[in-house]
Amino acid sequence: MSDSSSFRLGLRWKTGICVVGISLLLSGILVPIGKGKVEMLSSSSATLCEARIDARFRLLPGMPKPRWIVFCDFDETYFAHDRSAQNWKAKVRLEDYLTATCPSTGILFGLVTGSSLEEVLQQMGGSQMTLLPHFIASDLGTEITYFDQNVTCRPDWTWRDRMASSGFSKEAVRRMVEALRLKGVDLKPQPELRVAAYKKSYFLEGRDPEGDQKALSLIRELAAANALGLNISRCNPKAGDPEGSYDIDFIPVPSGKERVVQYLLSQNGLAAEDAYAFGESGNDIPMLKVVRHGFLVANATEEAKALHDQVTGEPYAGGILQVLEAAF
Ligand SMILES: [Mg+2]
Repeated sequence: MSDSSSFRLGLRWKTGICVVGISLLLSGILVPIGKGKVEMLSSSSATLCEARIDARFRLLPGMPKPRWIVFCDFDETYFAHDRSAQNWKAKVRLEDYLTATCPSTGILFGLVTGSSLEEVLQQMGGSQMTLLPHFIASDLGTEITYFDQNVTCRPDWTWRDRMASSGFSKEAVRRMVEALRLKGVDLKPQPELRVAAYKKSYFLEGRDPEGDQKALSLIRELAAANALGLNISRCNPKAGDPEGSYDIDFIPVPSGKERVVQYLLSQNGLAAEDAYAFGESGNDIPMLKVVRHGFLVANATEEAKALHDQVTGEPYAGGILQVLEAAF
């Protein structure tokens, strides 16, 4: 049975008629899906939505027929690791703006991030950033999860099937990493809060520019030879990454931030002209290039600014809000 069919066959009960259900809900096996209902997920389905949504989170107004999509990177774009009073106020103003204007503007708002769903929700919950977007495309766009009024947490099964049939293999990644090690390129596995199904990430420690370029060329060459999608970007120490290192992410070829942006536009019958995207680092650049309105926030890395010249006047949420208020 496929993941999707096992999910669709999930059992639904009215709350209150199943004491066992309440204890399962508390243990995180059941997911609240609307007023008075819970849904039992199969264990395989639960892996996608294991980070449960609790009462701290609020939902944006529903958007069944979006006219625009706004895509935001999470770390250091929507979410400022520097929790200064100024950044906090900008965050509150952006949340208020989205809540008030989505119904009239027709904006579908989502996060596109290299982090896992669990990491994003943990960061948001831990910093009282409680407004859930309409969707989160996590793990570098290899998973998409929707949050709406009727179903609290709904994976995109079409996208997941596309990842499953991509030919991506973690065993192929492991073999390639070993081959790189034998050639003197030592990749260190990145810590994971949850093991992503279709992404394997490493750090490459930077040494000298010439040596780094040789190592990166070899990584690109072997990834292509093994039919693996690859993302390389400079680590951002402000987001907790090691100084002077590179993020090396292996993903399915038909994934990545830009592919997920194109997929979601297509699914909603929209075009590049109907989309805004915001980011701050090298791995955001492809996403900014495939929409008509792509912006780096003012606090973006120098690496990113060298690759994209449309930059907001304000940093973080303040920059996003500045662009949206001017456009809508
Ligand atoms: Mg970022």
